[in-house]
Amino acid sequence: MTDVNMQGAGSTAQPVLVVDALKKHFPVRRGFLSAPDLVLAVDGVSFSIGLGETLGLVGESGCGKSTVGRAILRLIEPTDGSIRVAGQDITTLSNREMRPFRRELQIIFQDPFSSLNPRMTAGDIVGEPLRTHRLASGKACEARVAQLFDRVGLSRAQMGNYPHQFSGGQRQRIGIARALALNPKLIVCDEPVSALDVSIQAQVINLLMDLQRDLGLSYLFISHNLAVVEHISHRIAVMYLGRIVETADKATIFTKPGHPYTEALLSAIPVPDPTIRDTRPALQGDVPSPVHPPSGCHFHTRCPIAVARCRVETPLLHEIAPGQQVACHLR
Ligand code: SF4
Repeated sequence: MTDVNMQGAGSTAQPVLVVDALKKHFPVRRGFLSAPDLVLAVDGVSFSIGLGETLGLVGESGCGKSTVGRAILRLIEPTDGSIRVAGQDITTLSNREMRPFRRELQIIFQDPFSSLNPRMTAGDIVGEPLRTHRLASGKACEARVAQLFDRVGLSRAQMGNYPHQFSGGQRQRIGIARALALNPKLIVCDEPVSALDVSIQAQVINLLMDLQRDLGLSYLFISHNLAVVEHISHRIAVMYLGRIVETADKATIFTKPGHPYTEALLSAIPVPDPTIRDTRPALQGDVPSPVHPPSGCHFHTRCPIAVARCRVETPLLHEIAPGQQVACHLR
């Protein structure tokens, strides 16, 4: 599998994260006596992320992007492939061996309400990682939590409040503060603004960008919406049914997309000017089942330019311009 090398403005020679040929297959049983089928949720995904870089990972829901995020954190076990963090292979480390890496890798979830314990105060939630990793307790922990509240734009007076006493945007700030508590290198942001109003989305994305600038954080920013990742990403990888089908820097994705699926995702972004007639082709149909994905190019059942070859031969990622890789027979 082609390694998609991500080098952002702040990247160094050694990437923070290297994912190589990652696979996650889930067995599913249809009936008591039938042999299990396999859901090919992630089927050979490779990329790397440099220091201070954001890789946007985009695709419709069910394409496997959240599974990639969870596998990187070892919240689910990869079926195959490797994950290296700062040069160290963490793919098969035991729970105990993973402990120091859990500090380096954090996650922000889509739904800040269900990911925050309703019986804990916001201060306790943010301080929990510090206590779990025995990095601070008592007054020291409280002082660090207060600092984190300042950092994410929450008032220290709110440390004793419970999650239901915060707005959606504030709850996501609590989630961000919790993710920052251990000074991670990389944060997986899994649809972090999808549940928020559009005006609040911009505030949270700006906060994440400020934190990246000040702390040198790297992000894997997962979203079903290309418009959401546009502002924050240095580079973008587009996923379809478990595979990366295109990767390029942000400007190229938005001005010269190479894959028909990327073009279709772009056409789903509303045109802001109501006087302009939108003539772009819309994406037809739903994502096929990952249990029995279409043969050859998975996208051939929805692709407006598919040819006979697309049904039998899997296209591999190849470079069509410097820094732009596309998996399509016709590009
Ligand atoms: Fe479309 Fe064929 Fe390219 Fe797949 S390989 S995107 S089906 S033209």
